[in-house]
Amino acid sequence: MKTTTIVAATVGVLAVATVGYAVYFDSKRQSDPEFKRKLKRDRKRAEKLAKTEAKRLTEESTQDIEDFLASVTEEDFPTSMEEREQFCMAQLSAGEELFVKGPENYSKAAICFYKALKVYPAPAELVMVFQKTIPPEVFTVVMGMLSKDVQSKEEKYYTVFPPKEMNVKVEEKPEGLDVNGQRVVRRGLVATKGFTKGEVIYTETPVISSLEPSLEGKNFCHYCLKEMIKKEVMIPCTSCSVAVFCSEECRTSAGQEFHEILCTKNLKGGSAPAQALREYTKETRNVVPGMLAKFLAKMVHDESLKSGAEYNSFDHLERLVYVEQTLGPDEEKEIELLKLALGSSIPGIDQFITEERYLIMKARILYNIYGVSSGLSASLNVKPLPESHRSVRDRPITGVGLYRATSYLMHSCEPNTKIVYSSRDHTVSLVATENIRSGDELQVGYIKNGKLSTEQRRLELFTKYRLQCSCPLCEMTD
Ligand SMILES: [Zn+2]
Ligand SMILES: [Zn+2]
Ligand SMILES: [Zn+2]
Repeated sequence: MKTTTIVAATVGVLAVATVGYAVYFDSKRQSDPEFKRKLKRDRKRAEKLAKTEAKRLTEESTQDIEDFLASVTEEDFPTSMEEREQFCMAQLSAGEELFVKGPENYSKAAICFYKALKVYPAPAELVMVFQKTIPPEVFTVVMGMLSKDVQSKEEKYYTVFPPKEMNVKVEEKPEGLDVNGQRVVRRGLVATKGFTKGEVIYTETPVISSLEPSLEGKNFCHYCLKEMIKKEVMIPCTSCSVAVFCSEECRTSAGQEFHEILCTKNLKGGSAPAQALREYTKETRNVVPGMLAKFLAKMVHDESLKSGAEYNSFDHLERLVYVEQTLGPDEEKEIELLKLALGSSIPGIDQFITEERYLIMKARILYNIYGVSSGLSASLNVKPLPESHRSVRDRPITGVGLYRATSYLMHSCEPNTKIVYSSRDHTVSLVATENIRSGDELQVGYIKNGKLSTEQRRLELFTKYRLQCSCPLCEMTD
């Protein structure tokens, strides 16, 4: 085999991509979830192949692979697209030069190929090229590294999330057996240090939040849900009369994350793409489609930042618990409105919002959102929202928020923590309502239980959350 085989073969693949490697791939990747999905599919195929290959590895070489992986660090990879392309080509030729020198250089060659694979936009294609051009021994090692890498990204999630400074971690809790006798495990939030009653355990801002629809355009911030009292400044959106902000920062953040796309604008003789969604939200008071529109806009925004964060908001949403939802005329309408609102700004979103994906995203939102009470006045005249959300407060809610760590709090009718909105906006502060030891599971109430009988609580918890509460209160009245 000539030294140039792989480079030649991949140049073919790369050349196709080079037409748009910088332009097409870069812009597509940021703006087109469908394209991202294709990449994901490619990756999946590569992963599958990697898994079958990995099976052929012996215990001994597994250890080698771990050592090889340990020798590759994130700093080894360039960040800009042009540099990545050059890097990829350089690794490919280096790998090739190494393996033709003989088996004693196979592991070094494998590391080069693995590095090339890490930066290559269509890994599956490159795997196919490898399969045809490099010695099987080298190929197996490359696949082994890829497979281990994927596995550790999966496992690593709950080691980097929640961040250490929050003083909590996600832990698996046994939850009895299901109807088929299978062990059920759920994830809960556990304290990593002790807290005394009244202490704040952590504070957290939401992934996304939304005002109760009747408060839009009034003295409530469209971004952080803060109530603005008389002396405080109110900064309106320059293009619409729906969004008002409590600060320039809120206006800027909202604009960048979602409002530029979702602003209804005051258009004469026409309507903005998001207008119909806004009307639907106002009419039905169902905040979920609007939240999802914001969520998707923000997801694309996050991606464009290239912040280097390993997991994005979709990685968070993807892991949340939900109760399956069915497709009805409402959902069909919501999908249509969402596509209309986002379609002209986010190319490819039409294909991304499939019925199946919409239903799961909606279900995850419904299961995990909290009612936010950021208002000052207890007499705020707001009717309860029709859609479900976690809330134990008697004070009226001003909106809802989807949180990362807070989503993992388990329900109890006699919880050991409570959520307060002490900064008067959508920031959650989790406060200990009794002394908590390190290792204790943290719970909150999902529902108002003050006036409910055990029977009513059970019904509500089961309908909304498929929960069978086994707190002392529920057990006692059994
Ligand atoms: Zn604000
Ligand atoms: Zn606006
Ligand atoms: Zn209970």
